Amino acid sequence: MSTEVLAASATDVQQASASAPAQSATAEKVNLLGLSRPQMEKFFEDLGEKKFRAGQVMKWIHQFFVTDFAEMTNISGKLREKLEKICEIKAPEVVHKNYSKDGTRKWVFRVGDGEGSLVETVLIPAEDKTGSRKTLCISSQVGCALDCSFCSTGKQGFQRDLTQAEIIGQLWMANYSYMEDVPVIERERSVTNVVMMGMGEPLLNYDAVLNAMRIMLDDFAYGMSKRRVTLSTSGVVPKIDQLAQDIDVALAISLHATNNELRDELVPINKKYPLEQLIAACQRYIGKDGNESARKHVTIEYVMLDGVNDHPEHAQQMIKLLKNLPSKINLIPFNPFPHAPYGRSSRNRIISFQKTLSDAGFVCTIRQTRGDDIDAACGQLVGQVADRTRRAEQWKKKVAAQNEIIRSQG
Ligand code: SAH
Ligand code: SF4
Repeated sequence: MSTEVLAASATDVQQASASAPAQSATAEKVNLLGLSRPQMEKFFEDLGEKKFRAGQVMKWIHQFFVTDFAEMTNISGKLREKLEKICEIKAPEVVHKNYSKDGTRKWVFRVGDGEGSLVETVLIPAEDKTGSRKTLCISSQVGCALDCSFCSTGKQGFQRDLTQAEIIGQLWMANYSYMEDVPVIERERSVTNVVMMGMGEPLLNYDAVLNAMRIMLDDFAYGMSKRRVTLSTSGVVPKIDQLAQDIDVALAISLHATNNELRDELVPINKKYPLEQLIAACQRYIGKDGNESARKHVTIEYVMLDGVNDHPEHAQQMIKLLKNLPSKINLIPFNPFPHAPYGRSSRNRIISFQKTLSDAGFVCTIRQTRGDDIDAACGQLVGQVADRTRRAEQWKKKVAAQNEIIRSQG
């Protein structure tokens, strides 16, 4: 995220309000927010209840954004009481939210116990020929172990995986933010697209991400189209194959370099799974039913780093590399962050890179300025908020100390 955007939005930042759902329940309670349908069905069966209760409760949670069992009017009073005792519906705590005038919304969540850790979620609205979209960029981990050299999340190192409830809770909260003041029965889902492009490597938190995406696609929950849920990976090859077996969603690959020597440096997981293996895994992912599924093509993400990966010869290498892979290329102007070892390629350089690829027959887009906000989900916003929180804490301590002095002086 650029400093200009931060400066402009800082005044809009609000402290999380009491509107966030219940967060007081005890730790032993089962959080129903994170359960996929098979998991929820098992939960009800274990309680001696009918399986169809799962669908009913999921609709209340994910379509009507209800967190209080008392509001679930098609469930008997007795069962509601039982549920209240043993489970909860709990989204991660919102530490900051920022709804900017252009429609972009950002949340910083605290996850984990005590002080916990911060993760972020960004929603970008857009209008195009298919209508209006609201795309939510979701985080899957706190930090990331893969340490790509241009990524501020990577610089934080890996802290922990998000739970299923913390992942789907980001989508829940984004939808809920449009419905808070709407009567329960009139509530609807607003987010149209999800990209797993926030903090973390989703394929390294595989089970939680898979189950969260199942909830996204489930008609009893968000009922999203499989083409509108995209998982982005830096290239964990065996997990790409596993994903192909387990679910039908769109795939994006963080390519960023067109030869192994440079990719080893920029995206270190390349040393384990080099380009040939990665491209072959993408081809397998699309497979033979490419036309019927979400897997018509792979999106190739390519961050434009000044003088590093933006030479005409890199564009030529990309043409060769992708010639047998149905793909759409998205060039991402690099988002600088403090102490980043790179600069952003010039506009002209990006445009001529794009032209070379378009002339070779590729669909190649440049992520627009507003798209910069999506990259804000790569750890940069959290850094700023953490700073601000620290400053606020210091300020509070100072005020408390001064009050103490005043009190002691009578
Ligand atoms: N770990 C996954 C998903 C999260 S990163 C992955 O790497 O694909 C989401 C996207 O933002 C990736 O394409 C990533 O390479 C890109 N990105 C990370 N840091 C960036 C930066 N400083 N500027 C522009 N894009 C960045
Ligand atoms: Fe991790 Fe993706 Fe950042 Fe690489 S680009 S460090 S894989 S979050």
